Amino acid sequence: MSRLVCGVDLGGTKISTGIVTEDGKVLNSVKIPTLAQEGPDAVIGRIVKSIEDVLAMSNLKVSDLYGIGIGSPGPLDADKGVIMGAVNLPGWDYIPLVDRIKEKLNIDNVKLDNDANAAAYGEYLFGVGKGIRNFLYITISTGIGGGVVTDGKILHGANSNAAEIGHITINFDGPKCNCGNYGCFEAYASGTGLARLANEEVNKGAESMMKELAGDGPIKAEHVFESARKGDALASKLIDNEGFYLGVGLANLMNLYNPELIAIGGGVSKQLDMFYDKMMETAKKKALRPTFEICKVVPAELGDNIGVLGAAAIAFNL
Ligand SMILES: [Zn+2]
Repeated sequence: MSRLVCGVDLGGTKISTGIVTEDGKVLNSVKIPTLAQEGPDAVIGRIVKSIEDVLAMSNLKVSDLYGIGIGSPGPLDADKGVIMGAVNLPGWDYIPLVDRIKEKLNIDNVKLDNDANAAAYGEYLFGVGKGIRNFLYITISTGIGGGVVTDGKILHGANSNAAEIGHITINFDGPKCNCGNYGCFEAYASGTGLARLANEEVNKGAESMMKELAGDGPIKAEHVFESARKGDALASKLIDNEGFYLGVGLANLMNLYNPELIAIGGGVSKQLDMFYDKMMETAKKKALRPTFEICKVVPAELGDNIGVLGAAAIAFNL
């Protein structure tokens, strides 16, 4: 029988847990609130309960599992299985999550990795990166994250913080980023960065359909895309800039990691057609020719299941 693992996508607001087959099918899954404010013990209890629930739904026991994989926000230490003060998980200061789960469920193979690395490995095992030894995954949503698969392995670096690509500096005196630094890739090219630039323009008095779409609230990334699709000049300019910033980021990544394939996921990637050409034209200008020429850039494939599938993938990887 094919091996089965349980993938747990631990997020700041929800926990998604599913039983996953070796060929990347999710058999059963549950989604519950994290209730992160209740602290690590309560959240770990809910993770365990979610695993027991999907096992029961699937008529399985813990001993039927090949392993459990957990994708979580960082920073964390994947080797030690420890979460070290994740921003979205208050109170998680050096929590040995892997040991706690092993102990509670009496299972040996439990793996932890940050959610972007897990997603990258999920796309590598089950999705668009299948069989591609040098592969890079980028998620563009409220932030920008990424994972690098190099020679078939996730690149972790010295303490699991490699490929924090959202925080490479693309403008050394640029706007302040969530991480405290200035001019990070994420501060420009994430959905949040795009919305910030849109609000700045409109607050300076620029006319745009984005204002009407946003109503009384601030402009969001989705309003920029919708207005651009309807021909709004300012929104179109902002989307063009989005493509430019992403192209700059991609060129850096091509030069650093020399991947054969870059897959783009996350909410903003659903609008990839709007900025793909500008992004590639910019990357072509800025990357070294051989790193650009070998590299295809495509949408990620796993969609909404990527959290659970990515977490499962890291448990399949011994
Ligand atoms: Zn940053």
